[in-house]
Amino acid sequence: METFKRTIKYEEELDPHFRDAIMALEGGEHLSQCIQCGMCSATCPLSIYMDYPPRRIIAMTRAGFKKEVLSSNTIWLCASCYACTVHCPQNIHITDIMYALKQMAIREKRYPRGFAVPALAQSFFKMVTRKGRSSEMRLVLSVYLKISLFKLLSMAPLGWNLLTRKRLPLKSESIRKREELALIMKGLEANYSSAHPVGRVFGSKHTK
Ligand code: SF4
Ligand code: SF4
Repeated sequence: METFKRTIKYEEELDPHFRDAIMALEGGEHLSQCIQCGMCSATCPLSIYMDYPPRRIIAMTRAGFKKEVLSSNTIWLCASCYACTVHCPQNIHITDIMYALKQMAIREKRYPRGFAVPALAQSFFKMVTRKGRSSEMRLVLSVYLKISLFKLLSMAPLGWNLLTRKRLPLKSESIRKREELALIMKGLEANYSSAHPVGRVFGSKHTK
């Protein structure tokens, strides 16, 4: 027998805490004043590739569509160009909201699987907070091991070409006083957590 899936959500299935968490952020406090003018979507250079353009992301966040917003590709395609924020007549900091949504998506593991951008963001953040530098080779390996071993293998010829032309350094780079970096990151983390109820950056504990 054919089954039909419900395509709408009832109000009780929405998450009002989601909206409150975003509104507690600096710049997110004006979320409820969005007039749905669409200026953000019109100015966004990437909206044609997004699951939901910025105007809809704002509307869905305000309404509590947490699952849909966090698992959309929109927040990962956002290039942080700030065009939407500059043009928003209601002074909504859309770009900062996109950052907050990325952090929440990673912390709650709701980002689209097999999509390189969240994996890259996580790996880069971990590497830089641990070593103070990013190493291209390790970054690429870490990202593709997370998203697809097959894709990694298919890139082997390119990797070999880069290696033989000394364009892909194998050496892992690190700053000298890593303990000082760890202290700075710990301080930033504490400040960030107290100022933002949305929570810890990328859900990671910092390092030695
Ligand atoms: S530009 Fe601002 S007010 Fe207009 S739809 Fe986008 S977020 Fe809402
Ligand atoms: S900051 Fe992101 S959402 Fe806003 S216009 Fe730029 S790419 Fe689009």
